[in-house]
Amino acid sequence: MIKITSFGSGSSGNCYLIDDGSSQLLIECGVRFELVKQKMRFNLSKVAGMLITHEHGDHSKEINKVLKTSAIEIYASKGTIDALKVPSFRSNTMKNKVPYKIGTWTVTPFDIKHDVTEPFGFLIDNQVGERLLFLTDTKYSEYYFEGITHMMVEANYSIESLVQRMQS
Ligand SMILES: [Zn+2]
Repeated sequence: MIKITSFGSGSSGNCYLIDDGSSQLLIECGVRFELVKQKMRFNLSKVAGMLITHEHGDHSKEINKVLKTSAIEIYASKGTIDALKVPSFRSNTMKNKVPYKIGTWTVTPFDIKHDVTEPFGFLIDNQVGERLLFLTDTKYSEYYFEGITHMMVEANYSIESLVQRMQS
């Protein structure tokens, strides 16, 4: 059973932890890393890696803290890794739609629509058949995903268009 912890969400900063009981993944580092570590009781031993969707500050601003104060390896697109200047010995460059084994997880990145070089969403499978979709900052998704058991979506909305829809 996937356990999801949110350390922060929205434009002030995003950071999440997913845990399947065997290994953990951190997703994004837009929340003060000291705080994240504190909330994890300074136990990072089960963290298999950190996924980053793109280089906007609310998803990545603590990257240097993560690099300096932990041994966690970063997984992201080449565009994101270059933009964040993650050194090669700490980074794993992901290619679009190629699955990667990270701890007990299999993570498949896919392209999304956002105003940066190479933003990704993630489809995350574990070994007991659970499948989590992580989707953020995208105008829309052109993909259809089968067998999703968990979904984490950050979305903005326009109150005007919602009201218009309700009235029509
Ligand atoms: Zn963004």
